[in-house]
Amino acid sequence: MRKPFIAGNWKMNLLSGEGAELARKVAAAAKGQDVEVGIAPPFTTIAAVGAALKGSAVRLMAQNIYWEDKGAFTGEVSAPMIKDLGCTHVIIGHSERRQLFGETDETVNKRLKAAFQHALTPIFCIGETLSEREGGQTLAVLEKQVKGGLGGIGKPEARTIVLAYEPVWAIGTGKTATTNQAQEAHAFIRKLLAGLYDQDTADAIRIQYGGSVKPDNVKELMNMPDIDGALVGGASLKADSFIPIIRFKD
Ligand code: PEP
Repeated sequence: MRKPFIAGNWKMNLLSGEGAELARKVAAAAKGQDVEVGIAPPFTTIAAVGAALKGSAVRLMAQNIYWEDKGAFTGEVSAPMIKDLGCTHVIIGHSERRQLFGETDETVNKRLKAAFQHALTPIFCIGETLSEREGGQTLAVLEKQVKGGLGGIGKPEARTIVLAYEPVWAIGTGKTATTNQAQEAHAFIRKLLAGLYDQDTADAIRIQYGGSVKPDNVKELMNMPDIDGALVGGASLKADSFIPIIRFKD
């Protein structure tokens, strides 16, 4: 049984006071739930959010890391640095990083390896653009991203990874993939993982759905057999919308 994992990606939003206040509310709401919950604040507020989450099971996550541990890499932040702040998880390869900041399958692979090297659990994001979907390339794009990202990563590490399927056309647009479209992509990804590793490993890996997840669509998505959680952007910025999502089992 894969425990559902709901993670909030705050992107470049919320100052430390606002973030700490929201984190306290999320921690209280997540208590006793049979759902794993995580929050990825911007780097600047990880410490404040981490302090607010102290004693809670809510995972403290970062939104990215560079693959080197330290050195002359102005503006970058490394795996040891986010661990130093108490992070246990890190988002890697988000579509905004791929589209706006030149992230490629190759750099995603380096970041994933750096995360594993430092015992961080990566949330590895993949997903097709609208033109790729309309061009019938969805499955080929997913295959390329999964294989490119996981190159050289062995079974023991792969078991612990969290994948996030996020169709780019559904991110921040209010358009959600239908549950069937999402399930089809998730089942395909799991099949790919079984081919790359084995069925047991593929069955252990949680695959989140991301793209305009809201309180009113979360239940239907989570009911699908291969959807094991959600990566939530916009709706994770307010307690009113994130709490009903993490408490979707209520
Ligand atoms: C995201 O950026 O990971 C995301 C899914 O955003 P939103 O929920 O706003 O579509």
